[in-house]
Amino acid sequence: MPHHRTKPITNNPPRYAVMGNPIAHSLSPYIHAAFARQAGVQLIYEALCIEPDSLASGIADFFATGGLGLNITAPFKEAAFAQASVRTPRCQLAGAANTLWWQAGQLHADNTDGAGLVADISRHRTLKGLQVLLLGAGGAARGIIEPLFEAGIAGLTCVNRTVQRAYDLQKTFPRLRVEKEMAHAMRYDLIVHATSAGQNLTQPAWDSRCLHPLTLAYDLFYNRTQPTAFVRWAKESGCEAMDGLGMLVEQAAEAFWRWHGVQPDTAAVLKQLRECK
Ligand code: NDP
Repeated sequence: MPHHRTKPITNNPPRYAVMGNPIAHSLSPYIHAAFARQAGVQLIYEALCIEPDSLASGIADFFATGGLGLNITAPFKEAAFAQASVRTPRCQLAGAANTLWWQAGQLHADNTDGAGLVADISRHRTLKGLQVLLLGAGGAARGIIEPLFEAGIAGLTCVNRTVQRAYDLQKTFPRLRVEKEMAHAMRYDLIVHATSAGQNLTQPAWDSRCLHPLTLAYDLFYNRTQPTAFVRWAKESGCEAMDGLGMLVEQAAEAFWRWHGVQPDTAAVLKQLRECK
């Protein structure tokens, strides 16, 4: 389903792409092609594998040869942020960029990951008034903190393996609480798993004393064919749980809206991704 090409061939139809490394398994070309079909927009969306020392020249070449919009994925989001001259406020706070475009002679950057998470969760719960636990303090965690606060959550507590990294986040986001462990006196309405441990964790490393029967557990990590370790743990602990495939589709929709001015039907594309094993 996802396709991979290293060299752009044509500027007509308009060219878009995602850059990362590795990139062959990226779902972004499939998602953007599906959005384009919905909207009746002609485009090419490629997956470009970039060597770590070639990001700056890769971005420059892409736009110099007529490319119109670029998504950036691991491990380049921070480096892409550094390349941009103009950043949206949420991108500035995230310190990382996943959406680039060229406008009035300058490279512009946005970060749509947090908005993607909020949009996906909002399909299932209203975020307003929720007590939230954030597991992880890496790049993804940084990008979702402000959008969660903007959505009206009542409080956000961060627990990270390296606690100092959580305190570093608190310097940027003073409303963030930091705890050394999951198991303290609090039970949370929403638990967001934002570590990169993902599927490698076979033994649950999580403490179910943080849960109550209506807690929603959300794993940023996703797997289209089987439940992630975190989703399995949460469901076995009696909670509703979902993985981050919906967030991936929603962050792509934000980028699509930015580039094409059209809001895609994300539920339809998410359903196709889940059903296409
Ligand atoms: P980073 O490398 O920036 O951060 C990694 C985080 O995971 C750190 O907090 C790190 O803790 C923690 N960690 C790593 N290994 C372990 C472990 N064994 N036990 C406990 N904690 C661990 O990664 P990102 O923030 O960029 O990505 C995090 C996850 O989010 C990834 O799975 C990524 O695929 C997913 N993601 C999903 C998106 C979506 O659209 N669904 C979008 C963006 C990201 P420490 O500080 O101690 O090293």
